[in-house]
Amino acid sequence: MVLGLGTGWLGALAVAPVCLGVGLACGWALRARRGADPSRAHPPPADRRFHLLADAAPLAIFELDPTGRVTYANPQWERLGGTGATPEGASADVWAAVHPDDRAAMAGRWAKALRDGTAFRARFRILDPDGHVCWVLGQTSPVRHPSGVAVGHVGTVLEVTDLVEARQNLLRFHAIIESTTDYVGVVDGTGRLVYLNQAARETLGLDGDTDLATVDVRAFYTSESWQVVESSVLPAVSRGEVWRGELALRTPGRRDPVPVSNVVLAHRSPTGDVEFVASIARDTSEQKQLEARLHHQAEHDQLTGLPNRAPLLDWLGEALQAPPARGSVAVLFLDIDRFKVVNDSLGHEAGDRLLVSVARRLSSSTRPQDRVARFGGDEFVVVCVGVADQHTALELADRVRREVGGRFALGDDEVFVTVSIGVALGAAGASAEELLRDADAAMYEAKALGRDRVQLFDIDVRERVVERLDVEQALRYALERDEVCLVYQPIIDLATGGVRGAEALVRWRHPERGLLLPAQFLRVAEETGYIVELGRWILTTACQVAREVLVDPSTGEPLPLFVNLSPRQLADDRLVSMVREVVHATGIEPGVLHFEITENALMADAETTSSTLRALRELGVRLALDDFGTGHSSLAYLKTFPVEVLKIDRTFIEGLGRDAGDQAITGAIVNVARMLGLSTVAEGVETPDQAAALAALGCDLGQGYHFARPMDAAALAELIGPAEIDLTGP
Ligand code: C2E
Ligand code: CA
Ligand code: CA
Repeated sequence: MVLGLGTGWLGALAVAPVCLGVGLACGWALRARRGADPSRAHPPPADRRFHLLADAAPLAIFELDPTGRVTYANPQWERLGGTGATPEGASADVWAAVHPDDRAAMAGRWAKALRDGTAFRARFRILDPDGHVCWVLGQTSPVRHPSGVAVGHVGTVLEVTDLVEARQNLLRFHAIIESTTDYVGVVDGTGRLVYLNQAARETLGLDGDTDLATVDVRAFYTSESWQVVESSVLPAVSRGEVWRGELALRTPGRRDPVPVSNVVLAHRSPTGDVEFVASIARDTSEQKQLEARLHHQAEHDQLTGLPNRAPLLDWLGEALQAPPARGSVAVLFLDIDRFKVVNDSLGHEAGDRLLVSVARRLSSSTRPQDRVARFGGDEFVVVCVGVADQHTALELADRVRREVGGRFALGDDEVFVTVSIGVALGAAGASAEELLRDADAAMYEAKALGRDRVQLFDIDVRERVVERLDVEQALRYALERDEVCLVYQPIIDLATGGVRGAEALVRWRHPERGLLLPAQFLRVAEETGYIVELGRWILTTACQVAREVLVDPSTGEPLPLFVNLSPRQLADDRLVSMVREVVHATGIEPGVLHFEITENALMADAETTSSTLRALRELGVRLALDDFGTGHSSLAYLKTFPVEVLKIDRTFIEGLGRDAGDQAITGAIVNVARMLGLSTVAEGVETPDQAAALAALGCDLGQGYHFARPMDAAALAELIGPAEIDLTGP
């Protein structure tokens, strides 16, 4: 096929090429009339101007005969890869330069134009003489004789690679911007809206037909955001900066403003005027929601939904900054009494349910202005602001105590729960941490005073806290400094007055504070776990002393030794092996050794305790129930646990001989014990009347100041001696 170069060379775009084409056509027509040779070496004078123009033109200009052969071409023609512009041009393949992918299509279109004598116009690719792909715009127009006969074609080829690429880029960017979910908008230098992408149009409720120029962009923003636009965004972009920040959009589809992260920048003309301002905004509501959720999670307790320790400290800090005229800040530190028992006996699920219910009751029992948090475990804290005085704070706390405590249905079980509350009052400027610590200490005190009560943090509590810390420090070295010792209180046969054994009681010779009783340090020893080490020392020492001292002078048989075990010792899984080792090391006969355990210790974890007790029994040691009658349990435990001795609590003994009720209870305990084959020891016998009453009730043994005070080993040895002691007093 011939021709084709022409094909492509069209020029749709440019107006100039078209004019030139027309000019050319005239020149060509002249030459055509004159003769066929379009030689460029000696152009006829009439063509001179045309040739000058054609040679200088930045586009290829050519003419073709009616068959499509190139009969004239300017120099640009060859520069664009055109061939055949020679007298023998007809034989050259003018399609050679057209890109192979476009060649067939262009040749077809050209053939049709040639056949029909119509214009041709197309954009296509060529390979220039260097092999580069270039876009060109080619066009030809038929040239007709005044008679109407087609005598050839004139055409132009203009390279439009830059334009095509620019246009392709533009389309690409436009497609990207239209399809992004970000909101893109452009206003011109006068603030008139000129463009919104699809996402922005949809979100802002504008359809494709809206005349953007009539839209007021201020309506897109919340009033706060528009203030930011005016005060910060526009000044920044007009200084040439890119503004980045958060704004909020008002959209017809959503009730709440849409938070967006926004980038705004201006484009300036070469003279420095702002030509347009573009804004790209991204909806951050999901991100904001996620952030809020994470924040909520970090600051709330999952189980109860209450705020946790971190926000609590924040509020407290803020509340303490309020002016003093607003009253004091009260911190209520609440702890569920014996929560562990619920957890251990009913299971963790029940424990969780209890915590949730307590949280709920706590929230509804406090005032709207109070703030409630779960501090951890079974501890809750209420921050109350504007509290007039201590009295008000205590009233508030006591109401909370009453409303939170009570019956709780936990699935199939129902429990009765009490709470202890410590209260600390802080004026403006106090430290949040200290206030919390004080309330905690007061709560601790409330527990020590018997639970189910409110305790204010005051000077006394402070002293006790200091004392406790002091004890904790000094106790750690008490054993190695040889400050711990034991005293022994004899246990007397109520019928004969003979010594039937002794209870070992621990004492601490504190370097500064003198002799301390167990009540002054045992709780700390329990809490710190030091009791385990201390307990081993106590048992070893007591066993050694018992071997030497606790011997029946008439028979030479060993007498029973009573040693107290605290709940913490009982819960220690090394207890049984420790006892075995001590029994072995001291050579004490296991049946001589009686461990005293309180009902409360048994309650703590009934299952583990009962297996520990069985293991102890297997070693041959015996068990006594201490302070009997003061715990929860009572008689049921006597069957469950392998106990052989009951120690009747002092509170029942006190009233003997005076109080008929005490008399009846003690009598009942003694009878039941006898039926179960247990022996009884009455504790705290202080008067001859009590001793006589006990003997009359059939109680076997007694212990108390009436017979003997706790004494050291030497005094005990002397007491036991060979003689029986006088029942009427020491
Ligand atoms: P407990 O086991 O009930 O011990 C009896 C307490 O009553 C002893 O107090 C004793 O001195 C006191 N007492 C004895 N007779 C009378 C009396 O006639 N009237 C009055 N009012 N009190 C009397 P202590 O030695 O202060 O011990 C208090 C508690 O500390 C003990 O109560 C026991 O629970 C615990 N404890 C004492 N020594 C040890 C020990 O070595 N290990 C453990 N784990 N606990 C101990
Ligand atoms: Ca005891
Ligand atoms: Ca006791």
